[in-house]
Amino acid sequence: MKAALVTTPGTLEVTEFPDPTPRAGDLILKVAAAGICGTDLHILHGGFAKALPLVPGHEFAGEIVAVGADVTGFRVGDRVTADPNMPCRSCPSCRVGRGNLCDDFQALGVSEAGAMAEYVRVPAALAVKLPGHVATEDAALIEPLSCAIHAFDVLRMNVGAHVLIYGAGTMGLMLLQLAKQAGAASVHLVDVNPERLATVWLLGATGAAATAEEFDRPQGWDVVIDATGNPRAIADALSRVAKGGTYLQFGVPPEDARVEFDPFRVYKEEIRILGSMAVLHSFERAADLFATGLILPDIFISHRFSLEQAPEAMALFASGQGRKVLIRPGA
Ligand SMILES: [Zn+2]
Ligand SMILES: [Zn+2]
Repeated sequence: MKAALVTTPGTLEVTEFPDPTPRAGDLILKVAAAGICGTDLHILHGGFAKALPLVPGHEFAGEIVAVGADVTGFRVGDRVTADPNMPCRSCPSCRVGRGNLCDDFQALGVSEAGAMAEYVRVPAALAVKLPGHVATEDAALIEPLSCAIHAFDVLRMNVGAHVLIYGAGTMGLMLLQLAKQAGAASVHLVDVNPERLATVWLLGATGAAATAEEFDRPQGWDVVIDATGNPRAIADALSRVAKGGTYLQFGVPPEDARVEFDPFRVYKEEIRILGSMAVLHSFERAADLFATGLILPDIFISHRFSLEQAPEAMALFASGQGRKVLIRPGA
């Protein structure tokens, strides 16, 4: 088959790759679409992956073309997406039900071949069938939605809260929609890219600007979420939390990033600082919520590329343009 392969740090090549074969308990999917996200960029630049070469792609959906032994409940022709995360189930974090913090974190597209390829092998235990009205390609948005849902599990936001989000990419926009769904009184977005801010209005944000200063809310926000990973944005975001409010680190900063904050204020004003990492028990809920039509694919998916164009697609995503960029190996 053809696959996009990170061969060495910085190089993504479309090349021939062995077809996956199903082990017991596995499905083989013909990939309809794989989304690109920040994790793929980290992998391209030599991070996260245990070894190279690697086929990236952990946000995907496709049609079952082969079923391994001992699989029940799925058959050839079913359209599915899958939770890409495969925690070890035996380390201390896994044993207290926090598999996303696994000591030996394995995931499709990170530690084994992912979906930027014509076919991908998926454990049936991680697959979720798509309802008839959900287009297979669009279902690549379910994995990022499951990350945004986990963020709200971590936040436990009060109804009526005022929310400020940094970053109007795919994740910032999903967080905006979930905040509204969860009963936020207002949701403001900050992004330095004016083209991205245009979409924010379509999704019913209270306000959108290049800096939070423009919103004139000196008392701050009850919930402030960084979905950029940018240290300058993070420092600004931490300074915008209201008394008794909560800051959530959702975006992925560089591993060596350091940010100054005001510990006296954190003490005196009882500010909570939280982190949210990937998916935890939120994939099925994401599939159910996606099926309601909450996330409009035509707004969220800004670009669609063929598999041959994978390097171009990755470069476009890296440039910070657009929202969700899909690679369609079947097209
Ligand atoms: Zn992702
Ligand atoms: Zn584990």
